[in-house]
Amino acid sequence: MARIGVLALQGAFREHVDIVRGLGYECSEIRKAEELDEIHGLIIPGGESTAMGKLLVDFGIKDILAEKIKGGLPVWGTCAGMILLAKDIADQENTHLSLMDIKVRRNAYGRQLGSFFCEAPVTGVASDVKMPFIRAPYIEKAGEGVDILSVVDDNIVAAREDNLLVTSFHPELTDDTRLHRYFIENMVG
Ligand code: GLN
Repeated sequence: MARIGVLALQGAFREHVDIVRGLGYECSEIRKAEELDEIHGLIIPGGESTAMGKLLVDFGIKDILAEKIKGGLPVWGTCAGMILLAKDIADQENTHLSLMDIKVRRNAYGRQLGSFFCEAPVTGVASDVKMPFIRAPYIEKAGEGVDILSVVDDNIVAAREDNLLVTSFHPELTDDTRLHRYFIENMVG
């Protein structure tokens, strides 16, 4: 049976763990590089990408995780997790894991008032996915190999490139488990 890991260095990891377990899958919190060997798919939660990026280095996970994802480990980054996966971050010199051919803009809706909720379609998932945005990034530019799965107000908020899935929003803060199902059933298998 598929075992899912949730990167648990910082941010909203607990909610992802609860949803994955609620769907009947095994799920573990990941804080050490060797724990990556025990999972078939990884969720990188929302939080604060600068802090999480630093913790990836401090905990000695960054390089091993990048290799695993390059080797095909399915990964889903929500919000800050999406920023960690991006190859390009607008107005910022450094990137983190640098694996997905997207350019993201952090706090793209403004810092203070940039939190809102909507329901919108996600290709392959549903026409009314619940989307809480919390100081969210969006994708400004996506490379040719990237499938755009959702656009809200002309901004790309969900996309997939092979084994990488990203969403700007936080489905784990709702009772809508369909994206978790999509990730586990379609990408982890
Ligand atoms: N604004 C955060 C960042 O840039 C992301 C916010 C979130 O994950 N909810 O890292």
